[in-house]
Amino acid sequence: MAMMSSKKKAAARKRRRFLRKKICRFCADKLTLIDYKDVRRLRNLITERGKIIPRRISGNCAGHQRQLTTAIKRSRHLALMPFTVE
Ligand SMILES: [Zn+2]
Repeated sequence: MAMMSSKKKAAARKRRRFLRKKICRFCADKLTLIDYKDVRRLRNLITERGKIIPRRISGNCAGHQRQLTTAIKRSRHLALMPFTVE
């Protein structure tokens, strides 16, 4: 702790200020499997340009984020979800 400069500590505090407590929404819903056909749910987890929202933003747990990535890629392949938006 003594090694850490006060400037660094202040920056760390600042960055955390606007973050809410993160909850994995799939764990909250007690979902064990993420369905690639569940487009309505998946839509909330991509940006308007079609990119998958990273875990550090969405707050998903590692296991569910991994499943989500696969699910989104599957539904893209089936044209249920966009790869990109023109
Ligand atoms: Zn989870």
